[in-house]
Amino acid sequence: MTDHSHYVGRFAPSPTGPLHFGSLVAALGSYLDARSAGGQWLIRVEDLDPPRAVRGADRHILKQLSDHSLVSDQPVIYQSQRLHRFDDALSCLNDKGHLYACNCPRRSYLGLYPGTCRTQTTSETQPSALRFRVSETTIQQKDLAQGAVTWVYGKDFGDFIVRRKDGLHAYQLAVVTDDIAQKVTRIVRGADLLSATPMQTCLYHALDVQSPETLHLPMVLGRDGQKLSKQTHAPTINAAVAADNLNQALAFLNQPIIASDNPKIILGAAVKNWRTDRIPKLMGKTL
Ligand SMILES: [Zn+2]
Repeated sequence: MTDHSHYVGRFAPSPTGPLHFGSLVAALGSYLDARSAGGQWLIRVEDLDPPRAVRGADRHILKQLSDHSLVSDQPVIYQSQRLHRFDDALSCLNDKGHLYACNCPRRSYLGLYPGTCRTQTTSETQPSALRFRVSETTIQQKDLAQGAVTWVYGKDFGDFIVRRKDGLHAYQLAVVTDDIAQKVTRIVRGADLLSATPMQTCLYHALDVQSPETLHLPMVLGRDGQKLSKQTHAPTINAAVAADNLNQALAFLNQPIIASDNPKIILGAAVKNWRTDRIPKLMGKTL
């Protein structure tokens, strides 16, 4: 059993554009799950990739969230200000022999990385990407919405990049380092990130930290069957109708809607009503 007195959850948006309905569902789901367990809820801005970050998008997102009464229990942290922590994690992994240098161009293999450079060390003569050498043959997770999932090394996931050739830290490394630093106990996010779980679990194992529980919410799909995203130009959430947005997100997660036009009242009631067994056990669901 999980000790819920230490429950810490989080919502971690990338500042690549304003919040759309899909990200509101993830924010709301993580908030309600944390609050209903008496836990803390944190917001972290994942601005690791400077070329993709949109100026001012972080402030816009935080304002949209607070307009829906979704406010972090601790000061919001920014990944771009935590690069030294990611370097520390890399050193730790390297000292334990988990990393190797890789210079394979992406076009040299199809799909999953075949482990071409696996026997290399990290002593570099040229700038290289750093890869994590997976030692597990399978990773299993009992996801609280999607059920038991098993990933097989070499089929579902391979050795993955933790630092890119251009020196940027990779997503998996940054997420795990921050979730460990923030003592996150349960990750509630969209099912599009379910496939990141085996790689993140490998990092937890390598860093001798227990991996968190996961709850992957169905992705919000548009009429075309594609995930709503900034890339598909999903409409921005309109804060003027925050109560309607929250109720629409509650309905999407198959939770009771609340007859109120006050976001705070809706959240308070939704926390009491929250039941994870009502969440549709689907990877995606059309609006
Ligand atoms: Zn390689």
